[in-house]
Amino acid sequence: MAFNKRVKIKSLLEQPLIGAEVTIMGWVRTKRSNKNVSFIALNDGSIITNYQVVADPNVISEETLKKCSTGACLKVNGTIVESQGAGQAAELHASSIEVLGEADPEKYPLQPKKHSLEFLREIAHLRMRTNTFSAVFRVRHALAYAVHKYFNDKGFFYIHTPIITASDAEGAGETFKVTTLEIGNPPRTEDGAVDFKQDFFEREANLTVSGQLEGELAALALSEIYTFGPTFRAENSNTTRHLAEFWMIEPEMAFYDAEDNADLAEDFLKYLIRYALENCEDDLKFLEARLLEEEKSKPADQRSEMGLIEKLKFVADNDFVRITYTEAIDILKNSKPNKKKKFQYLIESWGADLQSEHERYLVEKHFKKPVILTDYPKEIKAFYMRQNEDGKTVAAMDILFPGIGEIIGGSQREERMDKLVQRMEEMHIPTEEMWWFLDTRRFGSTPHAGFGLGFERMVQFVTGMGNIRDVIAFPRTPGNAEF
Ligand code: ATP
Ligand code: MN
Repeated sequence: MAFNKRVKIKSLLEQPLIGAEVTIMGWVRTKRSNKNVSFIALNDGSIITNYQVVADPNVISEETLKKCSTGACLKVNGTIVESQGAGQAAELHASSIEVLGEADPEKYPLQPKKHSLEFLREIAHLRMRTNTFSAVFRVRHALAYAVHKYFNDKGFFYIHTPIITASDAEGAGETFKVTTLEIGNPPRTEDGAVDFKQDFFEREANLTVSGQLEGELAALALSEIYTFGPTFRAENSNTTRHLAEFWMIEPEMAFYDAEDNADLAEDFLKYLIRYALENCEDDLKFLEARLLEEEKSKPADQRSEMGLIEKLKFVADNDFVRITYTEAIDILKNSKPNKKKKFQYLIESWGADLQSEHERYLVEKHFKKPVILTDYPKEIKAFYMRQNEDGKTVAAMDILFPGIGEIIGGSQREERMDKLVQRMEEMHIPTEEMWWFLDTRRFGSTPHAGFGLGFERMVQFVTGMGNIRDVIAFPRTPGNAEF
């Protein structure tokens, strides 16, 4: 007989099956006992709600009941009975309990009390057994599914771009090297440099920082594509919004200009939010309450004006603000924190790169809405962005979200061969190495555009989690690759 003849708690809560005999399996969250009976709250991860198991000491041995401590894994067989107590409609009256895995109460690190997120990060191998993290990872799953559903329904094709690449197109030296050379004793060329000709790929290779360039190749064949894969950046920035390993969604579309690109991005973000609102209601309610509790310890002026769900609805139901970089600079120059020298980086003139303090001012203080910022100075953006007629700006687009800052970076791409090569030369990008990229402009080039959404930043926004390390199962950050 199959072992897994169990009913998931989620389906039991949807369909109570009063009177039926069922088997459930899951982990003990809490146990309360009095002389006559024990109540065990069991959770199997299928839903945030625990299921109440009622164990009569005349039916279940004392020895077994003792082992049903917090963290233990149980297989419970019994009958579903309408519940007398408040809090649940039905409960399971156990006829037998099998302890599948004990959890020594003296040693099990997760107790029914509240643990800090910092502590839970240190036991990331167990933290998914908490309400907070199981909710986060169910929402994360729903969002990942919604990404594929959105693009599939629109006729986009999912492309798997390489994780190991030889091009470091975005440059900036933020890449992790991939090599099989002996670290302490690599082969050397005559002039003493490491001889990568003898390396696995016979050249320098690294982990990808973006699938965009390969995505462009695919878009110029299949029209509308997207990638959704791991991305690596060796940036030593210990912020609440940066990981060394994160997941990025990068749609790339032929026959789109900058406005089409922004329209798609806005529609896509709203779709993801609506999908979560419709499919993750109980988890979002829990996360909203968690956030409210967390914010109680903050000074009043730093608390959110809206609850989590209200905020999500607000973003899903309202137009994003669209302004140019030039307009943003005017707003920032005349802003209070700039005049009172409260910004760490003061905005003095056109051309300044925007820091996250400026992005957050625009979104959280000035507009109080998501903002799509376009047409940045070409000097502060990548070589592949399309040059505007003014000769100064490029058709870049960043989308800024409250509490997050930049959530999307994108652009219309430079499809004109001469302009692209000129820009690459100005920025010292080796054109010979990029022969394959330039071939798309050489043969059948067309206007096209795309963007990259940081998946974890989106999960942060939807779940209200303040630290990006708490929305990926096993975060990789400087100094941390445990688990
Ligand atoms: P930032 O200025 O915040 O570092 P970026 O300009 O480096 O972002 P892009 O290169 O445009 O970002 O990448 C596209 C998207 O990927 C960003 O908008 C963001 O959502 C996400 N992203 C970028 N770097 C990271 C990171 N280290 N960890 C998690 N997400 C990231
Ligand atoms: Mn960055």
